[in-house]
Amino acid sequence: MYHALTDGTHPPGQDPHYTLTLRAFDRQLDRIAAMGGGGSARGWLDGQRGQAILLTFDDGHVSNHRIALPALARRGMSADFFVNPAMVGTPGFASWGELREMSDAGMSIQSHGYDHVYLTSLSDQRLRETLRAAREEISERVGRQATLLAPPGGRMPRGLAAVAKDCGYTQVLSSRPGLIEADTRRVRPLPRMAMTAAVDAIAFERWINRDRIAIGREQMRYAGLATAKRLLGDRRYERARACALGLLRGPA
Ligand SMILES: [Zn+2]
Repeated sequence: MYHALTDGTHPPGQDPHYTLTLRAFDRQLDRIAAMGGGGSARGWLDGQRGQAILLTFDDGHVSNHRIALPALARRGMSADFFVNPAMVGTPGFASWGELREMSDAGMSIQSHGYDHVYLTSLSDQRLRETLRAAREEISERVGRQATLLAPPGGRMPRGLAAVAKDCGYTQVLSSRPGLIEADTRRVRPLPRMAMTAAVDAIAFERWINRDRIAIGREQMRYAGLATAKRLLGDRRYERARACALGLLRGPA
């Protein structure tokens, strides 16, 4: 689960913690290529096999088009890009034209909800409206059906898989770390490993080699953070996180 990439420029909206350098990304793709290649969850769910790693991007940053697309295309790899219609074309985010170009180049453009509001904050009716609107707008503007949903912030209301299915999605991808088995039941949200700037080459190597201890450690860390989010509430949690990362300047 990647977000933004940088080659030295920093467009608005890119959280440094979720931004990898092109150098680091290139190195990771080369390692994945050596293992047999990377592909999209859409391709894998459609029955394509042979890809060692599934690659996804959240938020639709402009760097997905400018940096990730050429790096993937050069290696014959694909990835899923989860976007919010409300953010498309705003400063720092890819435009519909750029997303169409990515789709035409074999990339999978999918739904990250309509506007990045956490799905856990919505009523059941609003949840259904927003999931339908996101799917319909992305499918129409990109020219290919969006069928996958990655909830913003990984926040998943109870019963989300069933609601998503009612709204035309075939699969939910979570932000919970884990391994995908060849026989993973498709009704379960697919786990993803967060590729942050803090993931070093050693951790990356362990993850792509399916090291269960390293991945189990990530799962425990994720469970701890999920508890903190629940206890603090989303707003206070984001504030505490921003402070810890030094993103907030002056009195908080
Ligand atoms: Zn997001």
